[in-house]
Amino acid sequence: MTKEASREEARRSDQDGRQKGDDSQKSQKDEERRPPQRAEVSNYEIVSHYFGKAAERLELEDDVASVLRSSYREVQVQIPIKQSDGKTHVYAGYRVQHNGARGPYKGGIRFHPEVDLDEVRALAELMTWKTAIVSLPYGGAKGGVNVDPKRLEPSERQAVARSFMDKVEKVLGPMRDVPAPDVGTNAQTMAWLMDEYGKLHGHTPACVTGKPIALEGSYGREAATGRGVVYMFREAAPQLDMKPSETTFVVQGFGNVGSWAARIMQQLGAKMVGVGDADGAIHSDEGIDADKLAQIVADGGDVSDYDGGERLPSEDLIEIDCDVFIPAALGGMIHKQNADRLKARMVVEGANSPTTPAADDILADKGVLVVPDVMANSGGVVVSYFEWAQNLQHFRWDEREVNDRLGRMMRKAFREVNARGKESGVPLRVAAYEQGIERVVEAAKTRGYID
Ligand code: NAD
Repeated sequence: MTKEASREEARRSDQDGRQKGDDSQKSQKDEERRPPQRAEVSNYEIVSHYFGKAAERLELEDDVASVLRSSYREVQVQIPIKQSDGKTHVYAGYRVQHNGARGPYKGGIRFHPEVDLDEVRALAELMTWKTAIVSLPYGGAKGGVNVDPKRLEPSERQAVARSFMDKVEKVLGPMRDVPAPDVGTNAQTMAWLMDEYGKLHGHTPACVTGKPIALEGSYGREAATGRGVVYMFREAAPQLDMKPSETTFVVQGFGNVGSWAARIMQQLGAKMVGVGDADGAIHSDEGIDADKLAQIVADGGDVSDYDGGERLPSEDLIEIDCDVFIPAALGGMIHKQNADRLKARMVVEGANSPTTPAADDILADKGVLVVPDVMANSGGVVVSYFEWAQNLQHFRWDEREVNDRLGRMMRKAFREVNARGKESGVPLRVAAYEQGIERVVEAAKTRGYID
């Protein structure tokens, strides 16, 4: 059976299950897709823990901390979609705006079956610190719909995107809140969102970022998060005497972030010895060609369709001997039960909240250098900022200019956080949170939003 046919079958069987109102009737494909052993804590607990640790060190007043711990606005909407089985299915959509002291809210929109309010809340808060760490004039937000896009027809995906925009447009806009792609969404999704927003407000390209080039998207945006991850690796590498051209790496998740990080690492001469996605993983000490694999995935395949390498379950990826491990899938995938199996000397977090606090402690004890999500994956929002700035002027920079500017901002963020960490003897994650929180508090106080 072809992949497309098997997806279609999984989708139908899922719909049948729902029709019968029986949640326990999960398809076999569901079982196969079940993520490997996941975290002992939620994404929200992960972000809250790191915030609490930094807030304590900064001696933040309790009332200030409680403002920063909670969201400014949380919107939950109903998304009813008539699907090809003739039934209307209802999905839940969320947009959480965490803090807007430094500028318009900014953050991705995720389409994934595990999306819930708690996860979106955590990711929104992370965006507040991330935009501040990298000195962007933005606040933090996130959105999501609890739908599995792989089980939708393209027309149904479009209907979900348009319906979501119709329900949340009142709190969005170029000067209010600007969405971007995240897990399960892409440039096409952003095009539909922009078009739907335009029906109500007139052509407004700056209302979303990560759009296709044909619709005032920015050159370099698609690769930006992965490219940023590699800039971070290059900054951190000398601390462990690593030379990019002699480095081996493993990537967990081969979507937008993972596939671009892998391709750009490969351009530096580094060798990918392991890679996995939701459906499986492969290992090869001879190297896996990231460009070839990206083409397979672009053509609708999975990592396991790669010709070569040894197949292994996704959860064993962490055990592959390598220098750098790049998590680029979902949150909580490096956790208490598997952190001690990690062989790499460096982790550069492409994903959001991939490492639980217990795992972070285990990695620290093992001497692993962790470049944390709040700065490591900020390349996407940096180039989203460039796209927004270009859109507001209906102007366009070439890709080289985008990449050079991205490099400057990422290097600056790394060096500031690294210097702070060295000065106070704390890991990069703690230093990064401190940097972000301090900047947000200063902005909120200067505005008079808090005393
Ligand atoms: P994507 O949907 O393009 O890719 C996600 C990848 O993860 C896919 O290859 C998928 O198969 C894989 N995956 C899912 N579940 C898995 C599992 N259980 N085990 C192994 N792999 C699994 O998403 P993306 O945009 O690349 O985002 C990946 C991560 O990076 C997310 O945590 C996201 O929040 C974060 N991030 C994305 C951006 C961006 O610009 N897209 C920016 C910053 C952070």
